[in-house]
Amino acid sequence: MKKIAILGSTGSIGTQTLEVVRENKDIEVTALAAGNNIKLLEEQIREFHPAKAAVWDEKRAWELKEKVKDLEVKIVSGMEGLIEVATDERMEILVTAIVGMIGLRPTIAAIQRGKDIALANKETLVTAGHLIMPLAKEYDSAILPVDSEHSAIFQSMQGSNRSEVKKILLTASGGPFRGMKKEELTKIKVEDALKHPNWSMGRKITIDSSTMVNKGLEVIEAKWLFGVSVDDVQVVVQPQSVIHSMVEFVDGAVMAQLGTPDMKLPIQYALYYPKRRLLSGDRLDFWKIGKLDFEKPDMDTFYGLRLAYEAGREDSTLSTVFNAANEKAVSLFLDRKISYLQIPEIIQRCMENHRSVFHPSVEEILEAERETYEYIEGRW
Ligand code: NDP
Repeated sequence: MKKIAILGSTGSIGTQTLEVVRENKDIEVTALAAGNNIKLLEEQIREFHPAKAAVWDEKRAWELKEKVKDLEVKIVSGMEGLIEVATDERMEILVTAIVGMIGLRPTIAAIQRGKDIALANKETLVTAGHLIMPLAKEYDSAILPVDSEHSAIFQSMQGSNRSEVKKILLTASGGPFRGMKKEELTKIKVEDALKHPNWSMGRKITIDSSTMVNKGLEVIEAKWLFGVSVDDVQVVVQPQSVIHSMVEFVDGAVMAQLGTPDMKLPIQYALYYPKRRLLSGDRLDFWKIGKLDFEKPDMDTFYGLRLAYEAGREDSTLSTVFNAANEKAVSLFLDRKISYLQIPEIIQRCMENHRSVFHPSVEEILEAERETYEYIEGRW
């Protein structure tokens, strides 16, 4: 039996991870953690019988405790609760499907216990890759990418040496506003930005995909996961989202991983790595696809991507500022308090205002996040 725990079990990646568990009878769920959705968490507890479950809010944790008092499950809350789930003694692989920088401390705690990490929470590497990757090496913990692009890169690298890699070709759909210019983007409403052409995902990442900030976060994530510089990561727009990413080797050969837009594939690959398993679902039909298109990203219009390269060139708190400013700006946009084009504008202003701390500690990272939030709160 493979034993897993999930941070963010009620979200898009979390629920798809549980679908993979449902299809495979040899995975045991030892612990689950969620933010607010105790209704779904209760259903998950009844179906998967974890020994522990965490809810962020203490009051909601009490409510849940009352609801599941007929079951043998320990209910915990807050950051302590997340860490308890992340360090569960019986668990072998932690799926970090939580959204935001809140995933940082529990992920570090899990690594320090030698747990393998199936990593979806990109904020962890974006803000603290310089701490996470050496720590994982020290504690012999594998960091297995769940993000479809990084899984594709990881799969394309199997059987070859990292020193043979020339560059990473990170594919992007270009989002729902591909081809539009700034003037057209002034009219974008929340509903328009929440429609992704190919993938079905959580709300925040869907907005991030439309601004191409998500691709920027992925560029920085790739830098840490694969030990390259951001300038060795080239973004290639591939609107059909059939090619999930590619790797160019020193001899000019390009290896790619292709598939339907289904997150269950990278999730299952991370859970069973290095083995492959049957996965139900649609298959690619190249006769129907007919052709694939490729484009250069428009970094003038979608300049959030350009800002990510700037942040990623430094091993500093600038990446945290990029991420935190975006998190806050997206939340303000979703609450209809700012316009769509203010998202990259806020990121840029926060980055310009920030004085970078190089090779920051966890405390310095969290301080940079707090400062960024404060800077935004006083202005927008
Ligand atoms: P969702 O918004 O769908 O889900 C987020 C999850 O995190 C929910 O279970 C939520 O709980 C939980 N959560 C939020 N805050 C807390 C907290 N304070 N304590 C405990 N749990 C909390 O996000 P996604 O699944 O889309 O994304 C998750 C991560 O994976 C992100 O970092 C994203 O960038 C990354 N990712 C997502 C992909 C996708 O296809 N969706 C693809 C690749 C990466 P609740 O709902 O109960 O409040």
